[in-house]
Parts: sequence; structure tokens; C-alpha cells
Amino acid sequence: MSEKFIPLTDYRQREQQLMVPSRLVEPDGQLLDSLQRPLHDLRISVTDRCNFRCVYCMPKEVFDKDYRFLPQTSLLSFEEITRIARIFIAHGVGKIRLTGGEPLLRKNIEKLIEMLSNLRTANGDNIDLTLTTNGSLLARKAQSLKDAGLSRVTVSLDSMNDATFKQMNDVDFPVSDVLDGIDAAHRAGLGPIKVNMVVKAGLNDGEIIPMARYFKGTPHILRYIEYMDVGASNGWQLNEVIPSAELIKKLNQAGLSLLPVQANYAGETAERWRYADGSGEIGVISSVTQTFCHECSRARLSTEGKLYTCLFATHGHDLRSLLRDEHNAYSDLAIANVLAQLWRQRSDRYSELRSQQTEELMSSRKKIEMSYIGG
Ligand code: SAM
Ligand code: SF4
Ligand code: SF4
Repeated sequence: MSEKFIPLTDYRQREQQLMVPSRLVEPDGQLLDSLQRPLHDLRISVTDRCNFRCVYCMPKEVFDKDYRFLPQTSLLSFEEITRIARIFIAHGVGKIRLTGGEPLLRKNIEKLIEMLSNLRTANGDNIDLTLTTNGSLLARKAQSLKDAGLSRVTVSLDSMNDATFKQMNDVDFPVSDVLDGIDAAHRAGLGPIKVNMVVKAGLNDGEIIPMARYFKGTPHILRYIEYMDVGASNGWQLNEVIPSAELIKKLNQAGLSLLPVQANYAGETAERWRYADGSGEIGVISSVTQTFCHECSRARLSTEGKLYTCLFATHGHDLRSLLRDEHNAYSDLAIANVLAQLWRQRSDRYSELRSQQTEELMSSRKKIEMSYIGG
């Protein structure tokens, strides 16, 4: 096949043209990027909308009634998502996480889960299919998500204190409804449930110990996330980050003694710790103070089908233009080869560079919002 150039469609920013290599090669599941990192993990954003306005993610001042969310026609359909997921799996992806925005707002999400859960790796193994949610609709949907084939859920919860939580979600949503969602997910068998808490100094750092005490002794795994400089709208400042090492020290000083645990697999984002008295596990995700770019095997697919090879990427690659080509000119094999080419060129390591370079230099980059490509 001769080389084809796809016209650019991103209205937000000009993009590189996608190119189909002249010699097409079947994927062998062994794809490596320019820093020898495999492609194992795919995060798919199924909507850019959310019913929360978390101050660190979708601040109300930016995501207000005039904000232009993507129109329905821009969203990848379930068939398109499943097709592209199958191609990623052929390249070695074994884990898919649905995210957003708030993924449970996407209509008939159970149907998509059913379609994705029927996919198999080259060895015939099931895909590890998970979803990250703010928990607001989980009490209602946990059982149908499980029935559709979802393996596990991660629930975001930033505080046990109603006033602090409402200040953070900025839509007056109570803690108790998220806890009901976690209980329903547990009953439905969507565990082990991970609970993500973004820690922002001066806002919810007082909640580090109460959150630990609440989840200690349960099968749920609380994970503390360092507040990150994603997107351009949260006004991030380095002094609002509580380093994970400091946080572990705080927990130990409060009598919650912790011991390190071996990682489950290379490239795991969370560093694992267990309570010395055997009452469970926690994790810390130190995206700012202890970067893990050297092992990063994650790709992200935006709601409108753009591939981002880093959470902090400044532009995406418009895979949807291949899926929706009016002449239907791109076979799965052609798209797999475009993807292989993009991954082989990948050299992203934003967090490592952030540690090395000055804040001013990095803050001049035009980054993509977390709610657009998912966490
Ligand atoms: N709406 C869902 C939720 O909140 O779980 C899924 C999407 S949300 C973008 C995915 C994860 O990103 C959440 O756990 C959220 O707390 C985290 N997140 C968002 N903005 C962040 C930031 N600036 N720093 C660190 N984590 C962030
Ligand atoms: Fe919505 Fe999740 Fe972002 Fe909060 S973190 S605004 S729940 S997408
Ligand atoms: Fe991966 Fe980019 Fe995060 Fe580094 S900064 S761990 S390359 S997503």
C-alpha cells in the first residue's frame, strides 16, 4: 500500500499528520517505544462531561454553562471504541480502564462494557477491564456493571468530612452517597475496590488520617495521589503538593504503622504499603515527587478518538479520522501499523523532565485537561 496522509481535524490545535507505512506487518504483541517501554495499558475516556466540578480538575470558573463540551457526533461510538481496543490488544494491551469525565454518565455504558469484556488477548486471556468513577451513580449501577463484565472499580473520594468533600466537588455532593456506592460495588463483587484520594495541601490534607482510619480493616485499598499539574485550568502550584514520603511519615506518627510491599508488576503506578498489624493495604501515587515515566506503559484514548501517549501531552493523534474515513480505506491492519509507528516514536517522560527542569519552562506548555483524556 502506498503512503496515505490524513487531513487534520482537531479544532483545538493543529496536529501531526498520520501516515500508513508502505509495508504492513501483523502486530505481535511486542511493541516497544523509543525508550523500550511496552504498550500494556489503555485508558479510554468515554465522555468529557461530569456532574462534579472538582476544584483540581474541572473548576467551575472554566467549566461553566458556556463551556463547549464535545457534541454527541464527535464521541467515538461503542463499535468504534471496541474496534480500536481490539487493535490495541493485538499490540499487547491487557488492561483497559474506562474513565472520563464521569464514565457512568455515558448512556448505556453497560453495553460498551459487555462488548469490551468479550475481547481476548492473543493467548485467549480475558482483558482486565476496570473503570474509575466519582461514585455518584455507583449505588444504582454496580450490579449491572458487574453483570456486563466489568472486573473492578476505582472510586474517587477526597474526604470523609462532608464540608471538605463538598468544597472539593463543588456541587454539594455528600460523602455518604459515595460510601453507599462503594458498599454496592463491594456487594456486587467489583473488588478489590481502590479508593483514590487526591491530596491538596491546605484543602484536604487534614483528611489523610481520617481516610486511613475509615478504610483500615476493610478490603478496600486507599490510594493517596499527589496533586498534579495536569491541564491548564487548576492553577497548580508545587507548594500544594504533599510528597508521599511525608504522608507515609504522618501516618506512622499517628500510630498507623506501615511496611512496604512488593509491586504487583513492573510499571505499577502506586507504591504499595501494608499495615504492620495486618489490617489491610494502602498505596501512594507519587507522580510529582517520585516519577515513574521509565516504566510507563499507558496510552490514552480521548472521547473523540485521539491517542495521547502521555497524560501531559500537548497534542493527540486523530485515530477517529481513520475509523471514519469516508471510503473505508483503513483496515484493522493499516490502523495497527499507524499505531505501531506512533508508539515506536514515543519518547514522553514529562514527569521526569518536570523534576529536572524549571517550573517556568514547563508551565509554558499548553497541556490537555484531565477531564478530556481521563486520569
Ligand atoms: N470522574 C472520574 C473520577 O473522578 O474518578 C474519572 C475521571 S477523573 C479525571 C480520574 C482521576 O483523576 C480521579 O481519581 C481524580 O481524582 C484524578 N485527578 C483529577 N485531577 C487531578 C489532579 N490535578 N491531580 C491528581 N489527580 C487528579
Ligand atoms: Fe469529574 Fe472526576 Fe474530574 Fe472530579 S475528578 S471533576 S469527578 S472528572
Ligand atoms: Fe507516563 Fe507521561 Fe505520566 Fe511519565 S508523565 S508516567 S510518560 S503519562
